Parts: sequence; structure tokens; C-alpha cells
Amino acid sequence: MAADQHVVAVDVGGTSIKAALVDRDLRAVEVLREPTRRIGGVADVGQIGELVNRLSEGHTVVGAGVAVPGIVDDDLGLVRAAVNLGWVDVALRDQVSAATGVPLLVRHDVRTGGLAEFTVGAGKGAADALFMPVGTGIAAAVQVDGRMLGAAGYAGEIGHVVVDPGGAVCGCGMRGCLETLAAAPAFARRYKERTGHAITDAAGVAGLLDTDPDAQAVWTDAVNALATALLSAVTLFGPSVIVLGGGVAEAGEALVGPVRIELLSRLKFQRRPEVVRAALGQDAGRVGAALLGWQAANVEV
Ligand SMILES: [Zn+2]
Repeated sequence: MAADQHVVAVDVGGTSIKAALVDRDLRAVEVLREPTRRIGGVADVGQIGELVNRLSEGHTVVGAGVAVPGIVDDDLGLVRAAVNLGWVDVALRDQVSAATGVPLLVRHDVRTGGLAEFTVGAGKGAADALFMPVGTGIAAAVQVDGRMLGAAGYAGEIGHVVVDPGGAVCGCGMRGCLETLAAAPAFARRYKERTGHAITDAAGVAGLLDTDPDAQAVWTDAVNALATALLSAVTLFGPSVIVLGGGVAEAGEALVGPVRIELLSRLKFQRRPEVVRAALGQDAGRVGAALLGWQAANVEV
């Protein structure tokens, strides 16, 4: 194994694309970040191949991994739908590997982050684990018996588990989804509905928890909603560890601690999981995509 072999890890988002040249110790040697290029509102797939090719100059790149939001069939490398990229049925793996000549794997961004957390992060070594980032949206990566559940792209949409039947209308069209109570935008929206006062974001609500009963009520509703959704997940999948990540959870123990207490208090016969904060933070997508790149190259790391 030549020591100079590298992979390229790409994290595709609606506003920017991050790409990194990564070594076998999963260290980023070089990082590029560009605004997502659009043609007629649709994100340009060609930009991903260009970034891979640019990072490959002067290096031996043996594989690449690409993390994408939306409904992603990991096995086929097919993006069925990615609303914030304007993609429908994009054969991403085939298009990017044709443009680069590099073996490539494509995976849903949350399952990519989960791969990273379950391999080298807070859920390291757990065969049965659940990773749930709480951010602008909420989704889960669920691993059972060492296998990540994909279901042709449809698994893991825990943000749209109904926790409040008859509650607020969700962006997906249903009512009372977890995201209507616990995704990042819900904190500011619900605080404003109760008080008439605008607040910037979930961290703003967290900052008022010691003194403001309305902030406490909004927070408690979110904690209970998260515990309700996780109770179903624990009952169905039996994880030994639950890793909470994303902007809201990474704000601190204000979320993770109360969710842990609430969830564990409701369990009867179920497996009692550890509930921990994500270890990799913003790096989870890059680390997971790098792990995919090494998988694509058939190299153990
Ligand atoms: Zn929904």
C-alpha cells in the first residue's frame, strides 16, 4: 500500500459544497469549499467531478465518497429527490465516476454522518446504534446488527414521525411531525407564537431557560417530542447507543441531558441505550465521506 494514496470526501449542500483530500488516518490534507453552482435553479452535478479532479492533481486518489441530502438510494448511488438541490432521479454515482474515473460511493448525508460516528466517533464499535442530528431538519441513521438501514433511500425519516396528532402543519404536508416541535426553526417560531417576541434561533431560546417560563415551555415541548420519537425508534430497533448531533444538540447539554432523562424514564422492557452527544460535529460528513471513499477503493482503514 503506497503511503501517498488518498481519497476525496465531498459533502454536498444546498448552499455550499465542501470537498477534501483525505489520507488514511482520515486527516484532511487539503480542503475546498465553493458555493453550490446552479444552472436554472438546479445544482450542477459537474461541479462535484471538477472538485474531485482538482483535488486529485498531483496525488494518487483511489476512491471518493459523496454525502448528499434528500432521498438517496445508497446502493444505487441514486438521488431520488433532493429538494434544496433541485434534483430528481439523478444517477450521481455513475455521473461523477464517469467524470473522474475514480471508484465512488454516494450516501445520504445523515447516514454518512452516522457511518462516521459509528466508526470513529461517539458510537464507535456499536453494532446497534442510532445517530440523530437535530438541525434545520431532523433525520436518523439507524444501524442494526452492524448494517446501516437504507431501504432504497426511504429509511430514517424520524423528523416526520407524528408526535402531536392534529398539531402544526409540517413542510412535508402532514401534521404534528417531530420537526414541527424540535427542528431548529421550530424553537424561534414557537417562542414568537407564545410571546409575540422575535428571537434569533434555538440557542437564543436556550439562553433564556433559567429565567423565562415561555422559553422553558418551548424547550420542554421539544424535549418531550424528541423522547416520543426516540421511544418508538428504541422499541423498533433496540440501539445500544443514541448519538445526538446537529446544531441544536451541539449547543450543549441543554438538549442531550433532558432528552436522556425523559427517554430513559419512559422505557419499560426495552434495551436501555446510552444517550450521548456527537463527537465529530461539523466534521462528521467529511469523515464519513472519506470512509466511503476508502470503502470504494476496497481499502481497510
Ligand atoms: Zn413532516
